[in-house]
Amino acid sequence: MRRFSRPAYRYDRSSHRTLQGGRAGGQALLQLQDAYAVCRVFRHHVPGRGLRLRTHCTGTYGDVSGGHDVPTRVHSECLTGEVFRSLRCDCGEQLEMSMRAIRQAGIGCIVYLRGQEGRGIGLGNKIAAYGLQDAGLDTLDANHALGFPSDARQFGAAAVILTDLGIQSVKLLTNNPGKLEALRAAGVAVTSRQSLIAASNATNISYLRAKRDRFGHFFDKEQAPGQETDNVVSVWSSKISAGPLG
Ligand SMILES: [Zn+2]
Repeated sequence: MRRFSRPAYRYDRSSHRTLQGGRAGGQALLQLQDAYAVCRVFRHHVPGRGLRLRTHCTGTYGDVSGGHDVPTRVHSECLTGEVFRSLRCDCGEQLEMSMRAIRQAGIGCIVYLRGQEGRGIGLGNKIAAYGLQDAGLDTLDANHALGFPSDARQFGAAAVILTDLGIQSVKLLTNNPGKLEALRAAGVAVTSRQSLIAASNATNISYLRAKRDRFGHFFDKEQAPGQETDNVVSVWSSKISAGPLG
């Protein structure tokens, strides 16, 4: 594990500036348990909501400006998975694995997109979708039953933020081919990809299967596309595994 020393850091007033579709709103150094990260906030217009702004956040480790193939996680907020550590999804575990991978690399970036609960349907609707899932629908059909698309998330803000950080290209930490393509379409240079395989359990196994079978998420090396590498961070936990996905 790479050791992080305290970086030379000074408050910079110029971190407040206008961006495409929003504003960069300042930065501060965060001392973490075993690393330092610079936390920056960005206010970005919510697509389709006029002038409404939403505050997103990044945590950068090391000097990412000008960097190529920077390990990067574009992570959508999930209160239930990250705060309550709900086993219904793998968001909290994926966020932790991302930070572990970044610490091991000694450099990296977390782009934390707020307001993207439940693949973009919001916290209240996500809880309603959980109720439908308890009645037998899978995660995709539950969102459809509530009148939402399969995935309503927007990744344009992430592209603006990565550009503002000066990151030239990323190693994207994700299993999601749709996110990879959305970021590329928004102008992000994705040079490689790394999977984040969370432990399966009796609660999340059907959710993980739906991600694999209905959203085409990568869950092993063989499913990695073309030239992109696929260094799996974690493997199924033998302790609480409910069995292989298949
Ligand atoms: Zn989640």
